Amino acid sequence: MGLLDDLDRGLVDLLFPRDCVVTQLPMEEGPRRHLSTTGALELIRIHDPRCSTCGHPFTGLMEGDRACPHCLDLHPAFNRAVCAFQAKGSARDIIHQIKYGRALYLADDLVDAALEDQDFKRHLSGSILVPVPLHARRLRDRGYNQTERIARALGQRLPGCEVQFLLAKHSETASQTRLDRAARRKNVAKAFALKPGQKIDPARRYVIIDDVLTTGATLHACAQVLRSAGAIAVDAAALAHG
Ligand SMILES: [Zn+2]
Repeated sequence: MGLLDDLDRGLVDLLFPRDCVVTQLPMEEGPRRHLSTTGALELIRIHDPRCSTCGHPFTGLMEGDRACPHCLDLHPAFNRAVCAFQAKGSARDIIHQIKYGRALYLADDLVDAALEDQDFKRHLSGSILVPVPLHARRLRDRGYNQTERIARALGQRLPGCEVQFLLAKHSETASQTRLDRAARRKNVAKAFALKPGQKIDPARRYVIIDDVLTTGATLHACAQVLRSAGAIAVDAAALAHG
């Protein structure tokens, strides 16, 4: 369905000039099709200093007082998560359109903008990208897994990276959006497994990819599966931290 959407989009683009998804103004020529340079400037990027575990920015915290309230009690199975944007404003809107509005074509542009962040790019470099899977029923209802598209878009733009669909979600979890931190962790604790026949190479570094990191519970659960299967270096990344 991704391909069909892209073909449809290509035809629409020919008939009607494209507007930037953020500014609503006509797109300039450039590498991105739906996110202008001006529009990308409105995305709130995460810069250092940031939490070395979950990647949330340390805004307003003094040196030496940097206990991160976002991952304080997580103790994740991944080493480090890096996120490109804060899940606010335009970044949040774009991800919402990708996830719920079938606007998969926006994933390529958001990934392109994310990779302008050299820290984010370095974090992914040379790794195996592993998208967080959807449960089969959710996949059927939605028709696509936006995280797979994000991982593919990252893999296409990062030489030396490959995408491997190693994980399956075997139990359907309740929607996480209304759950608190502890409830989210319990909700996803045993939801994921290694797909049958998949092998882990302990010499490689794995980076689990999600669209948004909220509490880190999903990425933690996925990282636990990879570690149990023999992975030694496991990191995580998301386009945005919410
Ligand atoms: Zn943190």
